[in-house]
Parts: sequence; structure tokens; C-alpha cells
Amino acid sequence: VPTSNIRNFSIIAHIDHGKSTLADKLLQLTGTVESREMKDQFLDNMDLERERGITIKLQAARMRFTYENEPHCLNLIDTPGHVDFSYEVSRSLAACEGALLVVDASQGVEAQTLANVYLALENNLEVIPVLNKIDLPGAEPNRVSQEIEEVIGLDCSNAIYCSAKEGIGITEILNAIVQRIPPPHDTNGRPLRALIFDSYYDAYRGVIVYFRVVDGTIKKGDRIIFMASGKDYFADEIGVLSPSQMQVEELRAGEVGYLSASIKSVADARVGDTITHYTRRAEQSLPGYKEATPMVFCGLFPVDADQFPELRDALEKLQLNDAALKFEPETSSAMGFGFRCGFLGLLHMEIVQERLEREYNLTLITTAPSVVYRVNTINGDTVECSNPSLLPEPGKRSSIEEPYVKIELLTPKDYIGPLMELAQDRRGEFKEMKYLTESRASIIYELPLAEMVGDFFDQLKSRSKGYASMEYSFIGYRESELIKLDILINGDCVEPLATIVHKDKAYAVGRALTQKLKELIPRQMFKVPIQACVGSKVIASESLSAIRKDVLAKCYGGDITRKKKLLRKQAEGKRRMKAIGKVDVPQEAFMAVLKLE
Ligand code: GDP
Ligand code: MG
Repeated sequence: VPTSNIRNFSIIAHIDHGKSTLADKLLQLTGTVESREMKDQFLDNMDLERERGITIKLQAARMRFTYENEPHCLNLIDTPGHVDFSYEVSRSLAACEGALLVVDASQGVEAQTLANVYLALENNLEVIPVLNKIDLPGAEPNRVSQEIEEVIGLDCSNAIYCSAKEGIGITEILNAIVQRIPPPHDTNGRPLRALIFDSYYDAYRGVIVYFRVVDGTIKKGDRIIFMASGKDYFADEIGVLSPSQMQVEELRAGEVGYLSASIKSVADARVGDTITHYTRRAEQSLPGYKEATPMVFCGLFPVDADQFPELRDALEKLQLNDAALKFEPETSSAMGFGFRCGFLGLLHMEIVQERLEREYNLTLITTAPSVVYRVNTINGDTVECSNPSLLPEPGKRSSIEEPYVKIELLTPKDYIGPLMELAQDRRGEFKEMKYLTESRASIIYELPLAEMVGDFFDQLKSRSKGYASMEYSFIGYRESELIKLDILINGDCVEPLATIVHKDKAYAVGRALTQKLKELIPRQMFKVPIQACVGSKVIASESLSAIRKDVLAKCYGGDITRKKKLLRKQAEGKRRMKAIGKVDVPQEAFMAVLKLE
């Protein structure tokens, strides 16, 4: 089709507002996917995503749609729905000219919706408001349209009311995409510039790169170079996503497709990088490229020391597919050999852990996540520290800086009090509060990222009965009065339990943590002291009394199935224990610091 009949768009929605359901319906109605081969929610590919009902990785699909007897080509570029991946969202939006803003008509505007709409507007996208779930008895599309107008300032006079589930309003949406979203510019004559919005590693073909051609034309066999990584390849295969891969000979300005070129690692072809021709190079790469910086670090140790080489292999394989994952070997006298790993955020961390265990069959102990501190030493150097146990001694450092984030909470007004209390308690600095509508407010705080790692999000949800939503962004480093809290078990310092806390919180954290550890660590045959120390000073201590444990004694008579059950339960508990000195420490203990009251 001519460039003027191409439309590139994405869908912006808060989690659960119906993005995947709508995408499926668009694919179905355009005959892109036969209904019989339709798995629910075609675009969410990974098992993990389907289970959690979230979109982690971007995918794209090309649809054929006839509008006023003219064939059109609509490219849907999906976006991940989690703050950890907001950079990928920004790149996929940069590959589009328009976006559908899907809002649940029974709910309203949420924090994630806001953040992504602002990104879309910054990228000059045409935004089409879509009020979904009008089939629900509680749907109030008129009220929610008004809310969108007030909060975002987006004209909703021609908003589309739809039910993705019931298939109502889907044709109107397709028509609106053609009518309202501008076609790409025809810049086929210019030197090639294509924006990578996703890439993944395929064991047989190497990295598959998803891109949008912004200028010029790319042909099968062309010699190409990635401008940021500087790596060059021959584009052995190029094609479109319909949504399965279909080879073509060339892709022109405005088109969306994939290429494969025997690329060994996604690090060579990262999201946000620009593809150009090796000989006829573009002068300037497309704007907005950023290297992924891990924000959260943790230690990963195999429960069984023999699994160390397997863990290394698995991490190397995952890294081929995940340029944001960082790792280096970490040895600790308590834990043995393992890796210190860096992640974009907590969800990213959870995903990697889960994949290591599920896809690579490893049993791991994960230590509590830490942010990256900047330590200014007395000789004027600055060192980065992502492992609390390696924090330079007080005598060697002059100050410590920690990463800060700006958070925006959207909440019904009833929960303003409890949420402000939460933010205050986490060292939050109040910045601004405004009412979006009569009943909903936006609250902005600046607070240390470290205070958000852990149960902040769970707390937000429970204190607002699930009604509040949030969004955060990194704003920079600030100096704080931080100290290291060590934990001694049975007299041994357990490095992975060390944590960095604000000095005003040290006593409270020390007390709560020793109490929590006392609950979590199973009693042993001997008495075990648990102590929290700052330097050599003990600030809190508890002790586990000795027990002679004989679970089977609890069983009456000869009920063999019950005995077996008990033994199995005990064995499962053992799976995730690490012997530290003479004491078995379970996985939960390493995360205890995140769950203190
Ligand atoms: P996503 O997180 O934005 O991708 O949302 P999903 O498409 O996964 O939808 C979240 C939930 O809302 C699912 O249980 C859907 O079945 C449901 N849902 C989606 N669209 C509609 C709709 O139009 N009406 C109703 N009643 N439910 C819907
Ligand atoms: Mg989804």
C-alpha cells in the first residue's frame, strides 16, 4: 500500500482496563488472526505475562483494513504496562503517529494512564480516547470522558464508547484510526533510519529486531549498522508481523517489521538504537536512545553449591535476551558462590528470578534488593555501592548519596490521609496535592528509591483498598545520613542480611528485624542469639531458644499418609534453606527487612 494508507498506532491503558482484549478484537475483526487459532490475548506472548496478566515485552502486529474501498495497513505496536519498562514504552510510542487511550468506563483515569498519555503527547501523537467496558452495569462513560477532559485536557467530544469483550464499537475504532491518525511522512529517498522498539534472542536465528522505518528503505541482504552499538551486519531476512513473521523483500519509510542478521546478543541491537546503511549512513541517529541502567541489585545464590555453573550459564543465556540484566560473581563467606545482579526494577527482578527457576530448574536464595549508593570517600573519590555489606567503613567515607524518585499517587479522596502517612513514614518530602475531580486527588512526593523497594506498592494498595495507583520516575542522587546495619546470627556476621538505613531509623529497624528473624529462623538444637549491630555496637538482640525437634511425635497412631505429608512438608521447607555456620536460614529471612512493620 502507499505510505498514505499506512497507520502506526499503539494502545495506552492502565493495567486491566482492557488493552489486550481490545487488541485481540482488532486482530480478529481485520481477519489478521483466525478466531480458531486465537489464543486469548494473542499479543501477550510469554507464559509469565499471561499468568500475571501484564504485558512485559513489546510485540507488534500488522493488520489489513479496507476503508472506503481502499486497502490500508494498520500497524499496532504494543507497549509493556509496567513502570520498570517505561523506557520501552517511550520507544514504542516514538515509533507511532497515534495512540488509542483506553480507559475503563467503570473506573476512570489512573496513574499509569496519565504517565503514558503525557509520553504520547510529548511524542506528538494523535490520541484517540476510547471508553471501554460500557457493557458493565457500573459503566459511566460520560462521567469518565469528562474526567479525561479535566485531568488530561484531551478533547473527548468524539471519544469512542466500546466493549472490547462484547465486540461493541470495534469498527468505529478502526475507522477512527484511519481518519484521525496521520499517515507517516514519505521519506523513502533519504538515507535509512529505523528505530528499534524491541528485540529478542532466538536460539536458531540469533537476535530478531523489531523496528519502524522512519526514513529511507531497507532491502533484504542490505549491509546495516546499529548507530549506538557500532555493530554491523547483513540483514539476511526482513519481514512483517502479521502477527507471525512473514518475509518480504523490502520495507519502506513508515513501515514496521523485523529483521534477523545472525546477531549474537540483544546488547548489539538495543531498544532505542537506530539502524542505518553501512555505506550510505544517516548523519544523525534518531533521538532518545538511552542505555538501560539497573536501579535495583540483589544477590542470587544456588541453594545447592553444585548449581553455580548452571546458574552462570542460565544468566548468560537470559542476558542474550535482556540487555538490561547485569550480573557479576559475588562470593560471601555465608552464602558461598553466587552473583550480584542488577535490574530495572522490582518486577524485572521477579521476572528474572522466576525464569531462572522455571526455565532453568534452579533453586535459588535471593537476598534483599538494594539500590545503588554513591559513596564519597575521604580522598575525594566517588564509588558506587550496590551491596550493603561492601559499604566502605565510616572512617573511609565522607558522605553517602542515594537515588531519589518522584512519585505521583492518584487516589479517591478518602485515602489521602493514610497515603500521606505512608509516604511521610518512608522519608517522603511532600511536594504538591491537587484535586483532579471532586472526589480524586493527585499527590506528589519525592522520596528515596530505597524506601520504595519492598512493600511500598502493597502498602499503597492495602491502605487505599486497592483504589490508588502510582507512577514514579528517577530524579537524581541526594545526600542522606545513612549507616550500615549488620546482623549477627550465632555470633557470625551474615553479610547478605546487612542493610543500609537512615540513621534515625536504625534502632527501629534493628529491633523489628531481629524480632522478625526470630520468627522466621527455625529453632535449632541449641540456643541461637540474633543481634543487630552498628559498627561494633549491638543495638538490638533476640535469642532463639533451643528445641529438640521431632515432628513425627505429633502424629498419633499409625496414620501413614499424615506422616508422609509432614515429612514432605519438612523437605520442602529445607529446599530453600542456606546453612550459615551451624544455623539453617530460610529464604524468607533474607527478605525479612522488606516486610517490617
Ligand atoms: P489489560 O491489562 O489492559 O491488557 O486488560 P485485559 O485485556 O487483560 O482485560 C482485563 C480484564 O477486563 C479481563 O478480565 C477482561 O476480560 C476484562 N475486560 C476487557 N474488556 C472488557 C469489556 O469491554 N467489558 C468487560 N465487562 N470486561 C472487559
Ligand atoms: Mg494485557
